[in-house]
Amino acid sequence: MSFILHGLGVSGGIAIGRALLMSHATLEVAHLTLVPRLVDKEIERFDRAISAVKEELILMKENTEHAPAELNAFIDIHTMFLEDPELAVKPRDIIRERRCNAEWALVQQMEHLVEQFEQFDDTYLRERKFDVVQVVERVVKELLGHPGRATLKNAKKSKEESLIVVAHDLSPADTISFKEHRFAAFITDVGGGTSHTAILARSMAIPAVLGLENARALIRDGERLIVDGLRGVVIVNPDQRVLEEYQLRQEQIELERNKLRQLKSARSETIDGVAVQLFANIELPGDVPMALECGAEGIGLFRTEFLFLDRGDMPDEKEQYEAYKKVVKGMGGRPVTIRTFDLGADKDLYPEASAGDRVKTNPALGRRAIRLSLAEPRMFQTQLRAILRASKYGPIKLLIPMLAHAHEIDQTLAALEQAKSSLRGEKMAFDENIEVGGMIEIPAAALAVGLFLRRLDFLSIGTNDLIQYTLAIDRADEQVAALYDPLHPAVLMLLAHTLASAEKVGIPVSVCGEMAGDEDLTRLLLGMGLRIFSMHPSQILRVKSRVLKSDVSEVGPYVRKMLRLDEPHKLLEALEKLNG
Ligand code: PEP
Ligand code: MG
Repeated sequence: MSFILHGLGVSGGIAIGRALLMSHATLEVAHLTLVPRLVDKEIERFDRAISAVKEELILMKENTEHAPAELNAFIDIHTMFLEDPELAVKPRDIIRERRCNAEWALVQQMEHLVEQFEQFDDTYLRERKFDVVQVVERVVKELLGHPGRATLKNAKKSKEESLIVVAHDLSPADTISFKEHRFAAFITDVGGGTSHTAILARSMAIPAVLGLENARALIRDGERLIVDGLRGVVIVNPDQRVLEEYQLRQEQIELERNKLRQLKSARSETIDGVAVQLFANIELPGDVPMALECGAEGIGLFRTEFLFLDRGDMPDEKEQYEAYKKVVKGMGGRPVTIRTFDLGADKDLYPEASAGDRVKTNPALGRRAIRLSLAEPRMFQTQLRAILRASKYGPIKLLIPMLAHAHEIDQTLAALEQAKSSLRGEKMAFDENIEVGGMIEIPAAALAVGLFLRRLDFLSIGTNDLIQYTLAIDRADEQVAALYDPLHPAVLMLLAHTLASAEKVGIPVSVCGEMAGDEDLTRLLLGMGLRIFSMHPSQILRVKSRVLKSDVSEVGPYVRKMLRLDEPHKLLEALEKLNG
C-alpha cells in the first residue's frame, strides 16, 4: 500500500531506495519460551554476557585517564549493579523458573527493580533507576550482539547507496558513524531542523527528513521509499507514475549540481567587486577533500567534539594532534579554525553517565561547551596542547564555543597561556601568535559584544544556538521546530548589532551557523555587512552563485531599511523582493 509521511526536510535532494530499519529499542526484546533442555545453556549465555559487560567496564575505566570524574562514578555504579544479586542472580532464577530467554528474564527483573526505585522519596535514590536501565541495556546489547550498529555494519557496502535508514531517533553519535557509509538518505521520527543530527545530514549532502513521528512504526524493512529532503516528504511504496516523476526530478537536481561545479574556481566576489570569503564547516579530518572540492577558502569551523562522539572515549593528546595536523596539512596553507569541544546538550560526552541529569535539568542551558572545558582542566589542557602543536603546520585559529561571560574568556586565555608555557618547557614548536576567537551564540554575548571585541581576535556567530537561546526553542525538538525562526526580528537585531559593532573596531566576524549556508539568506547577510560565511561544503557553491549575482551597493541600503521592519509578513515580503 502506498502512503505519504510529512516531516521536516532538513537536508535537500531526492533519494529513492529501500528501507533499512535501525533498531535502538534494545529493551523491546523477544519473548521466548525455552524447551527445558536449553535452560542451562541460556543461563550460561546470561552469565557470559554479564562477565563481558563487567570486563568492558573495567577496560573503560583503565582507558579513561583524562575522563571527568562523573564517568568514573558512573562506571563504578554500573559495576556495582552488575555484581548485585538482584541483577546477576535473580534473572537466572527467572530463566529457570519461567523458562524465559535471557533478555526477557533480565528485562522483567529490570522492570521490577525500576518500580522499587520509583518508590523512594529521595531524588538521588529514585534516579538510580536510570542506572539500572542503562546497565541492563548494556547487557541486552551484549546478548543481542550490538544490534543497532550490527544492522548498519551488516548492510553490504555495495548496496548502501540504495538504502534509506529509518530510525526512531538518531543521536549525533549515531549519525557521525554514517560518515563511514554511503546511505542514500535517512529519516527519523524525532529531531529538529538545526539539531546536530540534521547538521550532519547536511554535511553528508544526503537527503534527510526528521520529525516524521511514526515512520519507524509504519515502514517495514525493504519497502521502497522516496525521500524528498527539500519538502520533507517520504513516499512509501510509490506507484510507477510517482516513481518516474521523482526519477526525473532527481536527474534535474544532478544537472543543477553539475552546473554549480563550474563555479568552483570562480573568484568569490559581488557584482560591485566586494570580496566574500566562503569557508567550510567540518566534523572530521575526512571531510577536508570535500571542502577543497567545493572550493572552500579555509575551514571556518571544525567541530572537534565529533572526533570521538561515536566511540565513547576521549582521544588523547597524540590522537587529537594527529587529527588537527591532518586537517591543517590537508588544507595546504589555507586557514583552519578549530573549535574546542562543544560537548553537552545533544552532544553528550558520556550519554550513559548523564541520562539521569538530562531528566532533571535542561542540558542546553547546563554545563556545555566552554563551561565543560573549564570544569575539566585536564581535558581542556590536552586539547589546547594538541591544537597548539598542530599550529606549526599551518595557520590555525582557535575558536571557543558558548562564551557568555568576560571571566570565561579570561580563564580560557589563561588556560591557553598555561598550555603554551608547558609546550615551551618541553621545547615543542607552535604558533606563539595563534589567533583566538569566540562564538557569539548566546544573546547575552551578542548584546554585550564589546566585552568580546576587547578580548578576542575574531568572532564567529553561531546562529543555530543564537536562535535557540533567543527564542527559547530547543533546536533538537521537532515539536517546536515550526517556531524556530531565523527571520525573527530579535534574531536579526542581534546579528546586525554584532556585525556593526565588530565592523566599527575592525575585528573580523563570520557566521558559521546554518544561516550562512542558506542561499536565500545570503543577500540579507551581505546587506548586514557579513563578509565571511562558513557552511557545509555542499552549500558553498550555491551560496557563491548568489554572491556572484549580488550587488552590495544595492542590497546594503535595502537591508538597512528592511531591518526597521518587525512585522513577520513584511519581513518575508521584503526578503522575497531582495532575492527576486
Ligand atoms: C551554532 O550554534 O550556530 C554553531 C555553529 O555551533 P553548533 O551548531 O555546533 O552548536
Ligand atoms: Mg553552537
